[in-house]
Amino acid sequence: MTGFSFFERNKIQRNLQEQAYDLVIVGGGITGAGIALDAASRGLKTALLEKNDFAFGTSSRSTKLIHGGLRYLKQLEFGLVKEVGSERAVVHKLAPHLVVPEKMLLPLSDKKGLGYWVTSIGLKIYDWLAGVRPEDQRRMLTRAQTLRREPLLRKDEVKGGAIYAEYRTDDARLTVEIMKAAERHGADVLNYASVSEFIYAEDKVSGVCWRDELGGQEYTVRAKAVVNATGPWVDELRTLNNSRQGKRLHLTKGVHIVVPFEKLPVRQAIYFDTDDGRMIFAIPRGRTTYIGTTDTNYDGDKDNVFTTREDAAYLVHAVNTTFPKAALSLNDIESSWAGLRPLIHEEGKSASGLSRKDEIFESATGLISIAGGKLTGYRKMAERVVNLLVRTHFRDRDLKPCHTTRIMLGGDAFSGKREVRRYLQKIKRRLPPAFPPLTARYLVENYGKQTGEILQRFEAKASPLKNEIDLLKAELWFSVHHEMICKLEDFFIRRTGMLYFNIAAVNLSKAVVAEEMRDYFGWDENRMLLELESLDRQVRNVTAFKA
Ligand code: FAD
Repeated sequence: MTGFSFFERNKIQRNLQEQAYDLVIVGGGITGAGIALDAASRGLKTALLEKNDFAFGTSSRSTKLIHGGLRYLKQLEFGLVKEVGSERAVVHKLAPHLVVPEKMLLPLSDKKGLGYWVTSIGLKIYDWLAGVRPEDQRRMLTRAQTLRREPLLRKDEVKGGAIYAEYRTDDARLTVEIMKAAERHGADVLNYASVSEFIYAEDKVSGVCWRDELGGQEYTVRAKAVVNATGPWVDELRTLNNSRQGKRLHLTKGVHIVVPFEKLPVRQAIYFDTDDGRMIFAIPRGRTTYIGTTDTNYDGDKDNVFTTREDAAYLVHAVNTTFPKAALSLNDIESSWAGLRPLIHEEGKSASGLSRKDEIFESATGLISIAGGKLTGYRKMAERVVNLLVRTHFRDRDLKPCHTTRIMLGGDAFSGKREVRRYLQKIKRRLPPAFPPLTARYLVENYGKQTGEILQRFEAKASPLKNEIDLLKAELWFSVHHEMICKLEDFFIRRTGMLYFNIAAVNLSKAVVAEEMRDYFGWDENRMLLELESLDRQVRNVTAFKA
C-alpha cells in the first residue's frame, strides 16, 4: 500500500531514523505545512513532525476565510492587507474548489461601525491594495438594496450597506492538502510525533528528539536546520531552546458557534458590527450557519481550549442585536470550536488591538521560529522562512527558486471556478437521486477531483441501498489510504468537519465508522472503545457550554 497513509508510518519512521535531513519542521498546522511544501519543492530534504493530528491547533479552528483582513485597515496595517489581500487570488487559483469566492455583505448603521463614506473609501483602498479585479470590487448599497439582500437585518438600524469580495475555505482540509503536496514533493511528514528536545552539535541545533504518540517509542532525527512552526506553542519550544528572550507570544482565544441554517438563514456571508465596537461574521455553510468570533486573552491549557457559556452567550447576543428575528438561544447551538491566535505581544495593547503580522525569531543556536500571521498568508510566510534558510544554511546549494504559486492543491487541477461548477453538476448526476442536494457540493468543495475516486469506491462497494452510510464508508476509505488518519476523531474533525457542521451525523455513524477503522487498522475491542470514548469527549467539548 502506498500513499499518504497510516500504512506508511513504519517506512517514514525508518527514514527519520536512518536519513540525515536538510530541514526538520516542528508543527503540522498550515504554517509548518506551507514551509514543508516550499522547502521540499525547492529541493531540500525535509521532514515534518506534528504532535497531534495535522491542523490540530489553530489551523482547524479559524473563521475559515481566505481574507484580506478588512479590519486590519482600521489598524492601518497596509502592508498586511496588501500581502494577504493579494494572496487570496493565488490560493484560490491553487485550489479553486476549496477556496471559493464569497461575496460579503457589510451592513452600515449610524450607531455602529465606520459609516457610509469611510466604509466606501476604506473598501476602495482594500480593493486597490489587494489588486481585486474590477468585476469583484466593492459595491455600495442603499438601505433598500441592503434590506432586500438581507431581510433579517434590523430595519430601524440599517442605513445602507456594502458588498465586497472574500473567499471561504476549510482550514483543516487546506492544511492537509498542502501536507499531501509536500509529501508528493518528497517530504517525510508524520502526525502523532511530538518533539520533546533539541539536539545540538557545536552549540548549533542539529536535530530533535521525538516520541511516537501512537507507539510510545522515542527517536531522534538529524537535520542541518530546524524550524519551530508550532503556532501557540512557539514559546514552549523557544523555552526548550533557552531562547525565549525579547518578543514573546500573546495568545487570544477566538470562539465560533454553529446553528442550524434555518435558525439564522442569512442569504450570504455577513460581516457586522457589535455593540462593543468589534466585528463578527455570520457565514452560511451547508445545513448550518456559523458565527464568530470572540477575542479574549488566554493563558490556560493550550491543548484543551473550549467554548465557555460566556463566549457562546456573547455571540448569541451579538446575533440577536443585529438579527432580532432570529431570537437565538444557547439551546439552538449545535456545535462550536475555540482556537488560539498566536500573536506577538505588544505592551499596553488589548487582545483585538494586537497586530496579526507574522515574525521570525532566530536563536543563537540557529533555531528559526515563526509566529503570528494568518491562514491566508501561509505561502508567503513559508517563502520568507525558506529564503532565510537558504541564506543562513544552504547558500552553497543549487536549489530551485520558490515556485509554490504553481503547485496545485487537492488532486488533479481545475482550470478555474467554471470547471469546478461543471464538475459539480457531473457529481450531482452521478450520486443517487435520493441524496440531499448539498452532498455533491460538500464532496467537491472538500475533495475536488478526488471525489471521483471516492465515488468509484462507493459505486463498487455500496450495499444495495446505496445510502449515505455507504458514501461515508467510501470517504473513510479515502481518508485511510490517502489522508493519513490515525484516529476516529481525525476523520470526524479534520478530514470531514462533521463534528462542527453535522454533529448529529457523527452520533449516528460513529459506531459504523469505528468498526470500519478497526478492520483497516487491526484495532482490538479495547482500542475501539477508547477511540469512541475520546470522540464522545470531543462531542461534549464542543457543546460543553450547554451544561
Ligand atoms: P497551528 O495551526 O496551531 O499549528 C501548530 C501545530 O504545532 C499544532 O498542530 C500543534 O499540535 C503542533 N505542535 C505544538 N507543539 C509541538 C511539538 N512539541 N511537537 C510537534 N508538534 C507540535 N486566518 C485567516 O487567514 N483567515 C481566518 O479566517 C482566520 N480566522 C481565525 C479565527 C480564529 C478564532 C483564530 C484563532 C485564528 C484565525 N486565523 C485566520 C489565523 C490562522 O488560523 C492562524 O494564523 C493559523 O492557523 C496558525 O497556524 P500555525 O500552523 O502557525 O499554528
